[in-house]
Amino acid sequence: MANPPALNDCPVAQLKGVGPKLVERLAALHISSVQDLLFHLPTRYQDRTRVAQLGRVRLGQDVMLEAEILSSDIEVGRRRSLVCRIKDPTGIISLRFFHFSAAQKNLLSPGNRIRCFGEIRSGKTGYEIYHPEYQVLQAGITAPLADSLTPVYPATEGLQQVRLRALIDQALSMMLSQSTLVDWLPDNVLRSFRFPALPDALQYLHHPPTSAPVQQLLNGQHPAQQRLAFEELLSHRLCLRRLRQQSAHQNAPILDVGLDVSLDMGVVAARDVADTLPQKFLKQLPFALTNAQVRVTQEIRQDLGRNEPMLRLLQGDVGSGKTVVAALAALQTVDGGYQAAIMAPTEILAEQHFINFSAWLLPLGLRIGWLSGKVKGKQRQQTLADLASGDIDIAVGTHALFQNEVQFNRLGLVIIDEQHRFGVHQRLALREKGNDGRTIPHQLVMTATPIPRTLAMSAYADLDCSIIDELPPGRTPVNTVIISNSRRDDVVARIHEACRSGSQAYWVCTLIEESEALQCQAAEVTWQALQEQLPDLAIGLIHGRMKPGEKTSVMDAFKQGHLQLLVATTVIEVGVDVPNASLMIIENPERLGLAQLHQLRGRVGRGAKASHCLLLYQPPLSLQGKQRLGIMRDSSDGFYIAEQDLALRGPGQVLGTQQTGLMSFRIADLSRDADLLDSVKSVADLIEQTHPTHIAPLVNRWLGDRELYGNV
Ligand code: ADP
Ligand code: MG
Repeated sequence: MANPPALNDCPVAQLKGVGPKLVERLAALHISSVQDLLFHLPTRYQDRTRVAQLGRVRLGQDVMLEAEILSSDIEVGRRRSLVCRIKDPTGIISLRFFHFSAAQKNLLSPGNRIRCFGEIRSGKTGYEIYHPEYQVLQAGITAPLADSLTPVYPATEGLQQVRLRALIDQALSMMLSQSTLVDWLPDNVLRSFRFPALPDALQYLHHPPTSAPVQQLLNGQHPAQQRLAFEELLSHRLCLRRLRQQSAHQNAPILDVGLDVSLDMGVVAARDVADTLPQKFLKQLPFALTNAQVRVTQEIRQDLGRNEPMLRLLQGDVGSGKTVVAALAALQTVDGGYQAAIMAPTEILAEQHFINFSAWLLPLGLRIGWLSGKVKGKQRQQTLADLASGDIDIAVGTHALFQNEVQFNRLGLVIIDEQHRFGVHQRLALREKGNDGRTIPHQLVMTATPIPRTLAMSAYADLDCSIIDELPPGRTPVNTVIISNSRRDDVVARIHEACRSGSQAYWVCTLIEESEALQCQAAEVTWQALQEQLPDLAIGLIHGRMKPGEKTSVMDAFKQGHLQLLVATTVIEVGVDVPNASLMIIENPERLGLAQLHQLRGRVGRGAKASHCLLLYQPPLSLQGKQRLGIMRDSSDGFYIAEQDLALRGPGQVLGTQQTGLMSFRIADLSRDADLLDSVKSVADLIEQTHPTHIAPLVNRWLGDRELYGNV
C-alpha cells in the first residue's frame, strides 16, 4: 500500500459523510484539509459536568441549571418574547425566548422541571438567559451530565457544533493511526520549553479528559494550549517577517526634496528648500506642528528619500493630527514627481480627508482627485483618465481606488488610514498597484487604535513604527461621567439644555445584540423616542444600513448646524470632525471595548468649549464593568486606556478583532500570552537561520489563505 498523503494534503472531502455542500461550509471556516480540521481549535470550553445553583450564578457565566418552571408568559414590548421564571431551592431567574412556537410554549409550562444551559445576562427581570439550550426532564429519570469539558468551536451558518465535533473526531483518529502530522518546531525548542508533542496537545485540547484541570483550561493556560499558542504566534511573526524581507529587495522611488522641519521652531527653516511644496504648505498652515508631528515627519521624510520601500505605521491618538503628517508625506511625493493616494475604510472618513486636502492643497496649485464607489458614469471615466495620465497629483478615496480598472501614472506613495480595517495582504495588493516593473510605492499606514507597546512588536513585525504621543495645544479634556440608565430623563434634560444654548450633541447607540440590523433598529427606536421627548430640537439619525448618500447628507446637516442632536450607531467612530459638538451620550458603554469607547469619545472635545461624555450604562454593572468605565472616566490617554483594558480583561477572554484592531488568532491571545512574545521572537530568529524550510509549512498551517488581521 502506498503511504497515505500528509494530512495537510488530504482534502476534507475524503472524510466520511463530507459532500460538496459541507466542503463549501467548511471552506467558509478556512478548512480545506484534514490538518485544517485538527487546527480548528476550541475558542472556549463549556462546563456541563455539573449543575449550578441559581442563587450563586454570576453575570456573564455560562451555566448549566436544573429548575422548576414557575410561570411562562408572553411579554409584549419593544419585542415580543416568552419569559419563563424558573426556580431551585437557592433562587429564581428568567429564561427569555424571542422566537418560540406554540409547542415550545406548551413544553415550558409551569410545574415542569427543565435542565438548561446558557449565558447569564442582566435583563428586565434581573438575571436572564436568552435562548438557553434546554430539555424538559422526565419525572423519576436522571439525565446524565457530560463527563468532560465540552469544546466550543468557531462555527458558521449551517454547520453546528455537533457536526464539527464529529468531523474533528474523524480527523483525530486519522492523525493517530497514520502519524503523518509533522512537528515543525525544532527538537531543541520542544525540549527547552518542555512542550508536549504536537499530536498529544491536539488530542488533549479537542478532548480534555475528565481529570483535566478545568480552570487552567478555561483560562487558556494549560501546557497544551500554551504550546499551540506559541506555535501560532511564531507562525504569524515568521509570516510578517517574510513579507517584510520580500519587500526589502524591491526598489521604491527616491523622493528626497530636502524638506527640513526644524525641531525647535516646529516650522520649516527657509533655506535652499524654500520652494518645496511641504515648505509652502507649512507656511500657510494656521498652526505650528507639535514636536511629535515634527519628529514623525522627519522619520517619514528619511524613509521616502531611500530606494527601499517604506513600510511605516503611524500611530497617534484621536485628534493628534495625523492628517497633517500624511499631507506632508504626500507633498514630498508630488514634489519628487510622483502621485500619492490616500485611502480610508469608509466613505465618510475618505470624504473628510478629501475636504481637508482640497482646502489645504488646492491653493498650492495641486490637483486632487476623488474616487469612491459612488462616483459613476462620466465623472468616473474622467477621474480614471486623469489618474492614468498623471493629471491628478493626489487621489483620495475608499478602496475603490484600488480596483482593477484604476491605473495610476506614477504612484509613489500609498497612505492608508485606520489600518486595522485592511488586511496585510490587502495592503500588499495596494502597493502592487504602483508596481511599474522597476519600483513599487512607499506605504504609510495610520491608526488611532493605541496598542500597548509590548504588543506592537508582535502585531506589527512587518512595519516600522512612528508614534505621535502629544496632542496639539489648547485641547480641554473631555469630562466623562458614568450615569445609570435609570436617570435617563435627567440626561435627556441635559441634552435639551446644551442644545438650546448652542451646542450640538451625539447620542450613540451601541451593540445591543450581536447584529448590525438590531443595532440600527435600536438607533431608530431611540431616535423616535428622543424626537417625542425633545420636539423643539432638530434630531438626525445615522446608521450603517443607510445608503452612502443619505449618510453624507445627514453628516453635512450636522456639520452645518442644521441638526442639533445626532443619534448614531458606532459608524461615527472614525473620521467625524464637528468642533461644535461638545456633548456625547454613549448608551450601554459596558458592551464596548475601551479602545472603541475612546475612539467614540474622541469625536467631542475638538473645539474650544468644554466637552462632556456621559456613559449611560444599564444596571447592574459587573465589578469589571465598573472598573473599566472608571478607567474611561479617569483617563484620556489612549495608550494608558489600552494597557489597562488588557490588564483587566480576565485571561482566556478572546479579544474581538473588531474592537481592538489587533490580529485575530485561533488560540493565542495577546493579552494572555504576552509573556511568550520574547521567546517567540528569538525562536523565530533561530528558525530563520537554522530551519528556513520550516517557515512555509508553519505559515501555511496556521495562516493558510486567511488574513492576518480581522477585516471589519
Ligand atoms: P487624527 O490624528 O485623529 O486624524 P486630525 O489630523 O484630524 O487628527 O487632527 C485633528 C484636528 O487638529 C484637526 O482639526 C487639525 O487641523 C488639528 N491640528 C492638527 N495638528 C495641529 C497642531 N499642530 N496644532 C493645532 N491644531 C492641529
Ligand atoms: Mg484621522
